[in-house]
Amino acid sequence: MQSLIPAYRPDLSGNERAYVLDCIDSSWISSLGAYIARFEAALAATTGAPHAVSVCNGTVALHLALHCLGVGPGDEVIVPSFTYIASVNAIALTGATPVFAECRESDWLLDPAELERLATPRTKVILPVHLYGAACDMPAIMAFAQQRGIAVVEDTAEALGCTLHGRHVGTFGDIGTFSFFGNKTVTTGEGGAVIANDEALAARLRQAKGQGQSLTRRYWHEVMGFNYRMTNIAAAIGVAQFERLPEILARKRALALRYRQALAGLPVTFQRPIEGVSGSDWLVSLLLPRGTDRDRLMADMAAQQVETRPVFHCAHQMPMYATGLYLPRSEDIAARGISLPSFPGLTDRELDRVVAALIQALAS
Ligand SMILES: *Cc1c(COP(=O)(O)O)cnc(C)c1O
Repeated sequence: MQSLIPAYRPDLSGNERAYVLDCIDSSWISSLGAYIARFEAALAATTGAPHAVSVCNGTVALHLALHCLGVGPGDEVIVPSFTYIASVNAIALTGATPVFAECRESDWLLDPAELERLATPRTKVILPVHLYGAACDMPAIMAFAQQRGIAVVEDTAEALGCTLHGRHVGTFGDIGTFSFFGNKTVTTGEGGAVIANDEALAARLRQAKGQGQSLTRRYWHEVMGFNYRMTNIAAAIGVAQFERLPEILARKRALALRYRQALAGLPVTFQRPIEGVSGSDWLVSLLLPRGTDRDRLMADMAAQQVETRPVFHCAHQMPMYATGLYLPRSEDIAARGISLPSFPGLTDRELDRVVAALIQALAS
């Protein structure tokens, strides 16, 4: 029996273990401790953002961002329906209304042409999501947002390492948010962060994540806030991960290239990012031919010891957000997409096994 190839497995083979033990040995296990600042500095250096603030997961990063931009009841936030549900739940948590946008057929990402149709005087934020490690059309989105005076929060959870014309995603809008969940490009177990260009905004984010406490006077709480702090243990894992980020990204890009070459002759469709994108290839995802029974194909691959994942379902089809909306491109992609094993420790031989399993499942 061949061993199971999982869809994802984090690579913790660097200094992760040593740094976690350092936290325990030094007793700095909570949200104070030296690794927090080192982790934030590493994220700032990687993205080129002047300010990076760690939080405890990617969902609260989104909530914190929207909260600090003043989003609340009565406001609308434009978000692609084809996204991970956290992008939408964070909007609902503020009391604002998510307004679902269609995606583009080519890159599966927020279609800037939707903005004109969906924007109203209540639109407070546009929330593009850089899904699967590809960059949204930020020049078009920013041009619209700036012309209308609408803020932009970039959900960069899946796109650490992705640049558009050399500029890291998450730095185009007002705030970029990250997740460091176990299957993200850099993991801290559970973790997240926000980045911002504006110093005053960054200070508001930092204050709100720590119960609204003054940044200069302890136990003096100037605004309502939350406990969204990351632990030093999580940051320690993250610092070790950032040390190897170039290596992790290079391996993921090599895997994506090998998949694309090996599957070039098959009737599957890959995400096609816009010109100027250097993607982070978070999860290599593709669309199966129309008419393929996706569940049957994934079961076939599982029987060959290869784990795959369906892409996300559309948010506008979830019970709590369903309004009878019809977004044909998003629904088509959500119904036909699968993600292939794409973790840095995947060997070339294992990748070839994934390819063989897919070819066999497509043919049967
Ligand atoms: C992972 C992810 C999140 C949320 O991150 P958590 O850390 O799991 O809360 C948000 N948006 C997208 C697009 C994601 O992939």
